[in-house]
Amino acid sequence: MNAQQVIADLRELAALTSTADGAQRLAWGPVWRQAREWFAAKIGALGLRIETDSAGNNWVTLPGASTKTVIVGSHLDSVPNGGWLDGCLGVMAGLEAMRMHASAKPPVTLKLVDWADEEGARFGRSSLGSSAAAGSLKVDDVRELKDRQGTRLADALAENGVALDRMTNAHDELKKIDARAYLELHIEQGPVLESMNKSTGVVLGTFGVERNMLRFTGQAAHSGSTPIPMRRDAFLAAAQTALACREIARAHSKPGAGVVCTVGVVNVEPKIVTAVPGVCEISLDQRALDAGELAAMLREAREASERCARENNVQVEWRELWRINPRPFDPALLRLCEEAVREETGEAPRLPSGPLHDAAEMAPHMPAVMMFAYSSNGLSHCKEEDTPGPHLEKTIRAYLRLVNKTVAHVNAQR
Ligand SMILES: [Zn+2]
Repeated sequence: MNAQQVIADLRELAALTSTADGAQRLAWGPVWRQAREWFAAKIGALGLRIETDSAGNNWVTLPGASTKTVIVGSHLDSVPNGGWLDGCLGVMAGLEAMRMHASAKPPVTLKLVDWADEEGARFGRSSLGSSAAAGSLKVDDVRELKDRQGTRLADALAENGVALDRMTNAHDELKKIDARAYLELHIEQGPVLESMNKSTGVVLGTFGVERNMLRFTGQAAHSGSTPIPMRRDAFLAAAQTALACREIARAHSKPGAGVVCTVGVVNVEPKIVTAVPGVCEISLDQRALDAGELAAMLREAREASERCARENNVQVEWRELWRINPRPFDPALLRLCEEAVREETGEAPRLPSGPLHDAAEMAPHMPAVMMFAYSSNGLSHCKEEDTPGPHLEKTIRAYLRLVNKTVAHVNAQR
């Protein structure tokens, strides 16, 4: 178990694929391909080879005495000007897990996966490769996607040997694997572990998301001549709703089970300093790990928006943008993860994941769990992203312990 090797590999990859502004491994582009070539050479040095599935995900297999399979991995792609750990930490730790087991035939089969286009930074669709493998991707939903240069997703995929209409074959390919566990190490990308001064966290699952646009419609009017009681101010109704939603999230947060909500978009019409806003549209993104809490938050937000609309004499309409159910991780793997983290760091803080990850796509299909590394200043998707050396080393060791525990756990299964 060599955590230093993992860190050295990460540094090497960063040197090869970053500029002064950060990592540039944008999916389906030349730097990403270069990262994958570099990675294939590392795999080749182990006497193993890469196989690419129909969705462009790269797989490495270390056959064991049994076909029962433990999958490790994450993604090599990054956002533009990204960090040195997001995604590739999980792939490099997975590589070390393969190295650890490559010298003697392991009791169960190990697979390392590098998911294609987790970030969705170029075409706006996250977890593209893993959702194709999971069977949750609807090709028609992404068929028309273009990047900022106007390149179609289908053409970018074709440049990389992936046919858009055959991507979902990756699901049948995944089903052929006798998968018993999926283990993903990732940087937290948030401030929770840092606030507790803990190196490593056990991830309980990924948040469910309810994402909606709320459109408030009142009446635009002159800002000088319209008395306040006679206004139909759509912005004020939206603003009151946003504040009410924050209170709803506070009321549903319990210690160790926080929930979040965000109003990230506000559009006002007619957007004139001398006009009462006649229309206001806001986005509302609500997230929770517990499906019941999330449903209650959504219901209460709807009620609050209707109350705020009434109080301002305006109308409100809701439009769903996107939703996903919470994906709680496997209880048996959570126990192993907790043991591994406790043995390495002396304690095992548990936290949910606010961001989605490839593991969320795997969770409906096989037992899955994630482990998080401390994230300096909670920053990610930027060049400042970091996990200080001692925290990083402990976390990698904890993850490799988890791999070994899981191999033994799966080996003991029928
Ligand atoms: Zn990531």
